[in-house]
Amino acid sequence: SADMAMYKAKAAGKNRLFFFDPAMQTEVETRAALERDLRQALLEQQFVLYLQPQVDQFAQVLGAEALIRWQHPKRGLIAPAEFIQVAEETGLILPIGQWVLEEACRQLARWKNQAATASLTLAINVSALQFRNSAFIDDVARAIGEAGAPASQLKLEITESLLLEDIDGTITRMQTLKSELGVGLSLDDFGTGYSSLSYLKQLPLDQIKLDRSFVSDIDRNPNDAAIAEAVIALGRSFAISVIAEGVETDEQRAALLARGCHAFQGFLFGRPGPIAEFPVGQSGR
Ligand code: C2E
Ligand code: MG
Ligand code: MG
Ligand code: MG
Repeated sequence: SADMAMYKAKAAGKNRLFFFDPAMQTEVETRAALERDLRQALLEQQFVLYLQPQVDQFAQVLGAEALIRWQHPKRGLIAPAEFIQVAEETGLILPIGQWVLEEACRQLARWKNQAATASLTLAINVSALQFRNSAFIDDVARAIGEAGAPASQLKLEITESLLLEDIDGTITRMQTLKSELGVGLSLDDFGTGYSSLSYLKQLPLDQIKLDRSFVSDIDRNPNDAAIAEAVIALGRSFAISVIAEGVETDEQRAALLARGCHAFQGFLFGRPGPIAEFPVGQSGR
């Protein structure tokens, strides 16, 4: 394929200086193949939602976060880290995100029919591109309506990247989602992005997710403990609940609990898994 690359370089570069990097060419081809496969995956419904429990201080399951997986016919189960970025760059995140939204609403509607699951919440990740799409609010309203899902139990996880531009538009949109549709709003990966505290007070948030990077060393690193404590205090003063992500050990859970955190998500309580295996009642510990 180095010969092929030379040939392409010659064909393209008759009268101009030509820079060629075979590694880059390979990457371009891999991406093109990935894009093609993603389109196929949409047509053939190869995506699945995995659910990870979110629990309270007694390890009682409050609900779940839905995390997408790609059940590839040849490559097996593929994690989002391998395809979400390309999906965003190609715009395919819009139909993929739409599928996630509809599937989550259908799941909430199924849960509603059984006493043990009727009050569970379900959080989905919404990419900035999807959130800014002009049809998004209508899409959410329609997905809820068609599935018959309890709107207040659907949570949209957004990230601080939405606050980089058009903050007024973002706030207006959040207000509509919250006050007209009644869905919950959660700020994912909090502390890693760009949010300024002055924006935070303007956002109609129900929840902040303390990023895993502050959790992983919380029982050993006083700086991480101080940040966690500050975020939890901030949540309390704004009446926004704080959930810690990536809780893997009892020591981390105890350090968070001691600082007033009452909601947790992480391997300690359960890994993301197929919907049929989702635990109800107590999880983990
Ligand atoms: P996220 O929303 O911050 O999700 C949490 C990630 O941390 C998940 O990775 C989860 O499996 C992982 N995790 C949970 N508990 C632990 C723990 O105790 N330890 C460690 N080491 N990791 C833990 P996952 O499922 O690979 O998803 C990665 C990211 O992909 C998500 O980060 C989210 O940004 C994105 N993503 C996932 N599903 C969707 C989706 O449906 N739509 C969009 N737009 N993005 C998605
Ligand atoms: Mg998330
Ligand atoms: Mg997160
Ligand atoms: Mg994260």
